[in-house]
Amino acid sequence: METFKGNKIHGGIAIGTVLFYSREQRKIARRRVDDVDKELARLDEAKRATVCRLQELCQRAREAADNQSAQIFESHLVMLEDYDLNTAIANIIKNQGVNAEYAVAVTGDSFVARFENIEDEYFRARGEDIRDVTERVIDALMGDANRLEVFEPSIIAAHDLTPSETLKTDKTKLLAFVTQKGSVNSHTAILSRAMNIPAVSGIDVKAEWDKRTAIVDGHSGIFILEPDDETIESYRSLQKNDERQARLLSRLKGVKTVAKNGRPLRLYANAGSLDDIDAALDNDAEGIGLLRTEFIFMGSPQMPTEQQQFEIYRRAVQKMAGKKLIIRTLDIGADKQLPYMALSKEDNPAMGCRAIRLCLARPELFKTQLRAIFRAGVYGDVSVMYPMIASVDEVRRIKRLADEVKEELANENIAYGSVEQGIMVETPAAAIISDILAKEVDFFSIGTNDLTQYTLAIDRQNSDLGEFFDSRHEAVLRLIKMTVDNAHSVGIWAGVCGELASDLSLVPKLVDMGVDELSVAAGMVLQVRKAVCEG
Ligand code: PEP
Ligand code: MG
Repeated sequence: METFKGNKIHGGIAIGTVLFYSREQRKIARRRVDDVDKELARLDEAKRATVCRLQELCQRAREAADNQSAQIFESHLVMLEDYDLNTAIANIIKNQGVNAEYAVAVTGDSFVARFENIEDEYFRARGEDIRDVTERVIDALMGDANRLEVFEPSIIAAHDLTPSETLKTDKTKLLAFVTQKGSVNSHTAILSRAMNIPAVSGIDVKAEWDKRTAIVDGHSGIFILEPDDETIESYRSLQKNDERQARLLSRLKGVKTVAKNGRPLRLYANAGSLDDIDAALDNDAEGIGLLRTEFIFMGSPQMPTEQQQFEIYRRAVQKMAGKKLIIRTLDIGADKQLPYMALSKEDNPAMGCRAIRLCLARPELFKTQLRAIFRAGVYGDVSVMYPMIASVDEVRRIKRLADEVKEELANENIAYGSVEQGIMVETPAAAIISDILAKEVDFFSIGTNDLTQYTLAIDRQNSDLGEFFDSRHEAVLRLIKMTVDNAHSVGIWAGVCGELASDLSLVPKLVDMGVDELSVAAGMVLQVRKAVCEG
């Protein structure tokens, strides 16, 4: 038995078998399939998605006058249609009755090997192109980053996990996460909280742990490899204790969230999927204070169309059945990437062309999302919220685009709802000019994760800096207070949707500051209600 001490990411206890995951070693399992035609149709669909992706990349390269890259993507499009390659893949599926990703992978390997043995450098390079094309088709089949295949309940041990890897894993098979990288405020950590999966980071994870029994104690940030029977027993009783606590908390369902001073608070939940909305409602959240739409986009092999987005938002608002749903527009950039968007690499992506900057740079993308959100507004209480605002000019530009969208919908006789517009206050600039911004919008939602990162100049992703990343820092608390006061002075509301909202010992202070709304992971709703009511 070996015990390792790491960082607490999300509470809870898991006992089970380790599945070691390494991004470099994507394992493509050979699976027998019953329905070969269905598998061939899957392959066709993946090829279609790959064509779209390559065409988009090609166009992007042309726009950037990068002819060399455009030619490479064009040659990949031609390769994708290669008769020999496609016949070989289809034959493996048909003759062996196996899954498409396996057929693509073995065909790719054998074609690459053929090219690698040719002396001519030009032809050897073509082998690399075949590798690239077949990898893209496999990405489309498995979901770009879904290289983490979990077939039985497992403790996932990995050096690090990206949000999309985390998102695309079958939640029902996840017992816990143990990673080396991953700070408390990284998006992967946020996702583990949203899924209510115990998680510990800062552990020097080893490949040889694969398939061994382990315990993850998310309450104390402890990982135990090959625990003895006595330790397993004591952790089983701790698990039972957690279950008892959860039962006690469930008595708070239906109870109003009212602070000791008699002031009611709105207790909302954060969500990144329709499943999260179900979890929020199960935990008696009074609304959704932050729907991170980029997580929905990450689950899609290509950019969702207006109609696809509209269907998702409409289903979300219908699930809410009259309760408020605050949809945040795309917050892409830094650790949250959409592979099909091909964003250019930046030296400092957390400060780069992300979130609202990206949307303002690509108005067609932004307007498509706004159209879908406004249309969904017909079905219930929908608000929209814009991330990473730093200036009044940005807000005015957004409002002009939103007005254009409404006018266009009206001209097309397409119904849209009345949707309140708010901003996230998550840059120090927004907090400092919140008196001016408050006159422009309907509400503020304070994003303490980024507000802490930018105020303290500490990378929220860097787990080595965990001891310095302090959302309770006086500078952050003063910015929160200033923002809330400025909101109230013009009669709008201000909430907190960053992780600080579920810091139970700080909740009474946020209440005292006059915060009107707290939005937290679904699994934290009842604990926060208890903290608000008990003061
Ligand atoms: C925040 O920054 O506090 C926030 C809620 O947004 P995200 O964590 O998605 O960046
Ligand atoms: Mg943020």
